[in-house]
Amino acid sequence: MPSSRISALALSIATIAAPAMANDVNVYSYRQADLVKPLFDAFTAETGINVNVQFLNKGMVEKLQAEGKRSPADVVLTVDISRLAAVVNADVTQPVNSDILNANIPAEFRDPDGKWFAITSRARIIYASKDRVADGEVTTYEDLADPKWKDRICIRSGTNAYNLALTSAVIANHGEVAAQGWLEGIKANLARKPQGNDRAQVKAIFAGECDISIGNTYYMAQMLADPEQQPWANAVRIVFPTFEGGGTHMNVSGIAMTKAAPNRENALKLMEWLSGDQAQQIYAEANGEYPINPNLTASDLVASWGTFNPDDTPLADIAKLRDASLKLTQIVDFDG
Ligand code: FE
Repeated sequence: MPSSRISALALSIATIAAPAMANDVNVYSYRQADLVKPLFDAFTAETGINVNVQFLNKGMVEKLQAEGKRSPADVVLTVDISRLAAVVNADVTQPVNSDILNANIPAEFRDPDGKWFAITSRARIIYASKDRVADGEVTTYEDLADPKWKDRICIRSGTNAYNLALTSAVIANHGEVAAQGWLEGIKANLARKPQGNDRAQVKAIFAGECDISIGNTYYMAQMLADPEQQPWANAVRIVFPTFEGGGTHMNVSGIAMTKAAPNRENALKLMEWLSGDQAQQIYAEANGEYPINPNLTASDLVASWGTFNPDDTPLADIAKLRDASLKLTQIVDFDG
């Protein structure tokens, strides 16, 4: 390539990049691309602010720590309260005080100091075979440890964030000794070693390998939307279990502002927008999650699964009990 063309190209990139930089916001996301794209496209259409997303599977805390003050990240987006808490506890975020966020997000779904905000919620529920599990046969999380389910339960790894949060809720409700017994009871009832994701367990029910599994609510919506997975979804019924003396375990996806946040103003706009009606509607309709903003309701499909009473264990307590849950999961060799 002639050098004149190289410099012309470089110049054109520089002129495009410079103004764009001023109107960007950079996101590190543990959430999947296909989920966040419609959200960020709508945000850009409304505000003119470009959203650059880096998708990560793990290591967000380490990355932010390594980048320090020079981090390009403004906002982190994650699922699971303990992963959100891990980012906050590593001191790589900054508190946000926003009347809009405080108005859109009920107090139990945000940090009192503004260090994290939940933006959607989901219940961790039981998928039960329509053919092999009778209506009302399983109603509590404690039931899952009953020997009547021997060789009939499928579940993903016990060390998965969703399962650790559920075990944390067991500890919060019943204490560590009972939680260990519960894990041992479920392990004794497994039809196969823990493996795969939440949907893979429903597939196994469809295939006749097991009769019940544990999974998040929105996966039902995702399976129904996928022609290959629809038969899996149609093989099961959703049961909202409760803790004895408690409610149904919930978890969240959430956001926080990074400490570096080079585009702080845009970051705040994005965070506020994600808690607003348009974004909450997209989360509800496109991903089958429960909106956090009380102005919005679940989609018709999600509402058709029924109502339930959320367990009242504070999310911050669930996050704090993560290490204890991991320890118990390892002691009982849940995945072994
Ligand atoms: Fe998920």
